[in-house]
Amino acid sequence: MSGDLGGTGTERAVRRDGAVRAAVEQGLLGPDVPIVGLLDVAGIRESAAALRAAFEAVTAPGTPVLHAFAVKATPLVPVLRLLHEEGIGVEVASPGELALARAAGVPAERTVLDSPAKTPAELREALELGIAVNADNPQELERLDALVKALPDTASPLGIRVNPQVGGGSIEALSTATATSKFGVALRDEGAREWVVRAYLDRPWLTRLHTHTGSQGIPLTLMAEGVAEAYALAEEINERAGRRQVDTLDIGGGLPVNFGSDEESPTYAEYARVLRERVPGLFDGRYGLVTEFGRSLLAKHGTVVARVEYAKSAGGRPVAVTHAGVQVATRTVYAPGAWPLRIAAYDGKGMPKEGPDVVQDVAGPACFAGDLLAVGRAMPLLEQGDYAAALDTGAYYFAHHYAYNSLARPGVYGFVSDEDGSVSFATVREEQRVEEIVAEAGGGRADALTEAVRRGGSGRS
Ligand SMILES: *Cc1c(COP(=O)(O)O)cnc(C)c1O
Repeated sequence: MSGDLGGTGTERAVRRDGAVRAAVEQGLLGPDVPIVGLLDVAGIRESAAALRAAFEAVTAPGTPVLHAFAVKATPLVPVLRLLHEEGIGVEVASPGELALARAAGVPAERTVLDSPAKTPAELREALELGIAVNADNPQELERLDALVKALPDTASPLGIRVNPQVGGGSIEALSTATATSKFGVALRDEGAREWVVRAYLDRPWLTRLHTHTGSQGIPLTLMAEGVAEAYALAEEINERAGRRQVDTLDIGGGLPVNFGSDEESPTYAEYARVLRERVPGLFDGRYGLVTEFGRSLLAKHGTVVARVEYAKSAGGRPVAVTHAGVQVATRTVYAPGAWPLRIAAYDGKGMPKEGPDVVQDVAGPACFAGDLLAVGRAMPLLEQGDYAAALDTGAYYFAHHYAYNSLARPGVYGFVSDEDGSVSFATVREEQRVEEIVAEAGGGRADALTEAVRRGGSGRS
């Protein structure tokens, strides 16, 4: 499969190197601030544009298309605002994510709610606001029945999520379309398809159909298979209804990301072509489209940079002890086989390190032996005061802090580079302060348990 224009990946790498150097020069990163997350604003905008262009190239003119960014991939308000300005809406899956989207100013009609465990209060709020909702299961549909009666004028487009059960990919925990996946109505289970069709025929207000089949480790052809199943179901519903009841297909997200190099592969354009070949009717203008990409929009535009606090040797192998570990790269540390990350070496001035490859471990700061970003990696030797950068970490990494050892959430900065090479930073999220860690850990109620023992445990204060 051919990838991105080689130039784009190279330009991204050049911008990244410039940002690391500038972060050190400008004191964003140093002995007292040993870890930061960096976001490449130009790269995010390029990916948003590439997504829009890929679908514009295959859809009939005038087809309504909503690209809804899966907020869980990078739940940071300024990122959602930037994407909103680039024409990308949001897919939310919790009250917290919805609140982030609203704080970013994303309007209800650009928002889709998809979580598998929505409470009655969440559903009501969504219908009051006019947010699109995809019901996950028959019990949720019953809740929608009651709400639609109570709020007949809701502007919310409503649909059902189906699991086409087309099979999984190489990462079991991320495979959404296996026979026993927890998501949506399992379409190939006995009686399920007929149940879904009846559900639509009985409810003229169900106008959307949703599936999210892809994820990291899933081939494009399998993703397209899932979409094809949903499309065929929509056609069946519409035929039996005798009208275009299902007017919009939500095809989910899940485009895999290449974590092995700076090349972007597969691209949105490739996926759109695969889809058009497999499901041509999807693009002929009869259906509006919703997409829900997360990882593929942000992953390549984020970098965690951490200072090498100590460089040591154990059993003959060099080990760089850095400030980036399980708290910012949880998946990689716990499942290194499924989630390997590239590590780039920079010297104490933030310049790319040269030198012969040395096989070494790159460790994190947490107090357990498995807290390793990379094991036996051949790269220029990391020494005390150098920096190690974990690449492609803009989605599901530093924005997903894991509070092991009460390690602070690092600051996150967006960077913009001028033509002359100068770099300016914008604070996306401040570094968590130690006082905040204490407050979140019950610091304001230090006596709670000892007092409760004295009172004999009656009541709550
Ligand atoms: C996680 C998720 C997405 C985004 O998946 P990516 O692999 O990040 O593109 C989209 N839709 C739903 C329903 C999801 O749960």
